[in-house]
Amino acid sequence: MSPRRLNLLHAPTPIVKRAALDELIGVDLWIKRDDSTGGAEAGNKLRKLEFLMAQALDHGAAHIVTCGGLQSNHARATAIVSAQLGLGCTLLLRVADAPPSGLPGPDVDAPSALLPVTGNVLLARAVGAHVRLITPRQYDERNACMEKVAADLRDVGKRAYVVPEGGSNGLGALGYVEAMREVREQLDLGLGGGKAFDVIVHATGSGGTAAGIALGAGTFGVARAVRTFAVCDDRAYFDPIIARITREAAAHDATLGAPAALTVDDNAKGPAYAVMSADQRQFLARVAKASGLITDPVYTGKALFGLAAAVRRGDIAKGARVLFVHTGGLPGLLADGRALAGEL
Ligand SMILES: *Cc1c(COP(=O)(O)O)cnc(C)c1O
Repeated sequence: MSPRRLNLLHAPTPIVKRAALDELIGVDLWIKRDDSTGGAEAGNKLRKLEFLMAQALDHGAAHIVTCGGLQSNHARATAIVSAQLGLGCTLLLRVADAPPSGLPGPDVDAPSALLPVTGNVLLARAVGAHVRLITPRQYDERNACMEKVAADLRDVGKRAYVVPEGGSNGLGALGYVEAMREVREQLDLGLGGGKAFDVIVHATGSGGTAAGIALGAGTFGVARAVRTFAVCDDRAYFDPIIARITREAAAHDATLGAPAALTVDDNAKGPAYAVMSADQRQFLARVAKASGLITDPVYTGKALFGLAAAVRRGDIAKGARVLFVHTGGLPGLLADGRALAGEL
């Protein structure tokens, strides 16, 4: 039996076609709109939070602690859900170190003058999350930093629950096993003739979504293969992480079968995390104009760009039946408008 989960989602999310993208990319493309899992809290993280926040409540938590990049979608979704559930929330967000005085660090809330009023940070602050800014070096020790914050909260009588980066552990990944059960039901209701997909494609940042999709796609016969596009690091980094999360997820639920074959594709990560190449920016703008599908510069825009490149290389056959999981990220686009101004 699967662990308890909360009901946080607007589900099932639709699966749609955009004929212009079939033409542009050269496959039979279906888009799972997980950018529509909710309102301001929407995106892939909400599926993981259904399981993680259920456990937090079961543990009697009054406060949630998590981490991410400065404009983290995961941190924003966690902050909003915490507020919905009446829980406090502290976010440890990574920024480049700020000379000459440095940053206040993980032990104190950042002064508001240091915080953006855009994108995910705006939304997290709007629901009252405490934001602390940490350096890349502190972020390397993020789990220890979060445990310290939780211990300090316990010292003042607040029980705290730590959600790992991206909500990516075995429990969180079960959210994407459930997403694949949802796709199976959509196929059984006749979507696109009901045939399974040749391959599922999506973006990877911390690995939990990939693990859940592979496990769920295999278990429910949604697709034989998954191609996940790394937006940072590389294949050698993600292979063991995704394998570990997959094992942990399977251990939560004995009814799950073998995962679908998963390939980490690191050809589309661009110049750096959250930075697009000129080609990638042009592609994002072209997709939006041709089809009305808005992707984001950190994750989904790179994954869709990567899909088009994989078809050109022959790694995915022309005409293949492809399910693209749109995992959200709109606030990141809105926080980064200047980078795209040249494409408007
Ligand atoms: C977090 C995120 C991803 C990646 O999911 P992981 O489970 O962290 O690999 C993809 N797309 C968006 C929009 C995200 O916010």
